[in-house]
Amino acid sequence: MGGIYFHIPFCRHKCLYCNFFSVANTSQTGRVVAAMRRELAERRKDWPDNDIRTVYFGGGTPSVLPADDIAAILEDVRSSFSTAQDMEVTLEANPDDVSAEKVRMWRAAGVNRVSLGVQSFDTATLAAIGRRHSGNDALRAVDMLHCGGFENITLDIIYGIPGRGDEILADDLHKALYSDVKHVSAYALTVEPGTALDVLIRRGKMSAPDDGDAARQFLLVKDTLETAGMEHYEISNFAFPGFRSRHNSAYWQGKPYLGIGPSAHSFDGKRERRWNTASAGGYVTGIGGGGGPWWESEELSEKDRHNEMIMTALRTCEGLPTDVFADRFGGDALSRLMKTAEKYIGYGTAEIKDGHLRLTRTGLFFADGIAADFFYTD
Ligand code: SF4
Repeated sequence: MGGIYFHIPFCRHKCLYCNFFSVANTSQTGRVVAAMRRELAERRKDWPDNDIRTVYFGGGTPSVLPADDIAAILEDVRSSFSTAQDMEVTLEANPDDVSAEKVRMWRAAGVNRVSLGVQSFDTATLAAIGRRHSGNDALRAVDMLHCGGFENITLDIIYGIPGRGDEILADDLHKALYSDVKHVSAYALTVEPGTALDVLIRRGKMSAPDDGDAARQFLLVKDTLETAGMEHYEISNFAFPGFRSRHNSAYWQGKPYLGIGPSAHSFDGKRERRWNTASAGGYVTGIGGGGGPWWESEELSEKDRHNEMIMTALRTCEGLPTDVFADRFGGDALSRLMKTAEKYIGYGTAEIKDGHLRLTRTGLFFADGIAADFFYTD
C-alpha cells in the first residue's frame, strides 16, 4: 500500500517567503507533464506489489495546469496501478486559479480533496507576504468548491506574520471555520535563506518574525480549532474526525511513496530514498535520455532511521510508540530515549501516555528542537 506524489513545479508568481522548488513561468507545463507521465510509466515496475491508496498533486501550484493534464495523469495512475476504491486524491490550488469550470473538471477527473493556499483572509496581510489573491478571492474559491460538490476541503493558514495581530489571525480562523472546511494546515512564517523575504529583512525593509509572537499564535490556532471540534493530529495539521490527510499520515507512519516530477522524493518504505533533480529542464532532458543524471538515491543508515522516526513521531499528537521503537532499535536505544525524555517530562513539555512518548500542549511548538535532543549525532 502506498501513495504517489506529483510535484508540479510551476507558479504564476513567486511568494516572498517561498523556498519550494517552482518556477514563475507556466510556458513549459506541457513538456514537463509529458516527462512526468513517462517517468510514471517507467517506474511502475519498481512498485510491483503496491496498491495505491492516495495521490497528491503538490508544488508549486498544481492548479495552474490545464485540468485535462490532471485528468490524463490520473487516468495513467488507474491504468498502471491497482488503486483503492476510495483512493484519496488531493490537489493543491491557489484561490485565483479556482473557477467553476476547473472545479467541475477536477471532480470529473477523480480529485476528491482540495488543499487551498489561502494563508489569510486579510488582503493587507496577503499583500505583505507577496500573495496574489485577495481575502474575497479566497472566500469565493471555497464557495465554488462547495458548489462544485467538494466536501473534503483543507485550507493553509500562516501565522507569526510580523505586524499581523492576534485579532486578524482569530478572524482568519473563524472565517475558515465558518466556511465549513474539514481540515486546516497552519504554519509559522519562517525565513528561509535566499528567499526574497530574507533579502528584504536583511535590508531593513521588512521586520523579522518574532518567535514569541509565533509561539503565542500557535496556541491561539490550536485552542480555536480544537474548541471547534478539530483534532490537532500533527504539529501543523487539524481535522474534524474522519478528515485527516491520509496521504500525509502515511508519510509520518513510514509507508512507501513514489515521487514523480522535478525535485520529487520517493521512499521504498524500508531503507531507500530517491530524489529527482530540482531543475525542470534537467528533468525533461534526463527523462528523454539526454543530459546528465536526473535522480540520485541513498540508503538510510540505522542512525537516519532512528532520527527520522523520532522527528516524525514527536510531531504527531499520538507521539512515539515506545514498543515499536524498541522492536526496531533495541532496548538500549529505548533506555537512552527514556533517559533524555525525563528532562522534558520534568519541564512539562513531554509526557508518557498509553505507551507513547508525546509532547504536551506547551512542548509541541518546540517539537523540532526537542526531537533533535534525542538524535544520534555521531
Ligand atoms: S504559490 Fe506556493 S509554491 Fe508557489 S511561490 Fe507561492 S508559496 Fe511557493
